[in-house]
Amino acid sequence: MNLVCIKCPRGCLLNIDKDGTISGNLCPRGLDYAKEEQTCPMRIVTSLVRSGNLIVPVKTTVEVPKIKIDQVLEEISCLNIENPAIGKIIKKNVCGTSADIIITGEPYIPN
Ligand code: SF4
Repeated sequence: MNLVCIKCPRGCLLNIDKDGTISGNLCPRGLDYAKEEQTCPMRIVTSLVRSGNLIVPVKTTVEVPKIKIDQVLEEISCLNIENPAIGKIIKKNVCGTSADIIITGEPYIPN
């Protein structure tokens, strides 16, 4: 099995042999990533939320289990943001993941 490590911009091509041996990583983070991908893959979730006539960019503060991404996006889509500001937490412990949803950019008017 091959996969690209996404823990830094270098993007090492990792190989996982049938016996579980991991190679191709240039640092220990790649090993941890490959092991995590086989057991419980995690991802940061980014999305956009409507606030009146504005669009607000948001993301999770930490990675969430990949299997919960759809649930997290569903919960994000139901959020109602008042007074959006960069850095503001708009939802704590989304879907019981320990991740918060935080505003990451200036709200903007869609084209
Ligand atoms: S293995 Fe290390 S150096 Fe290679 S992409 Fe992953 S984090 Fe970066």
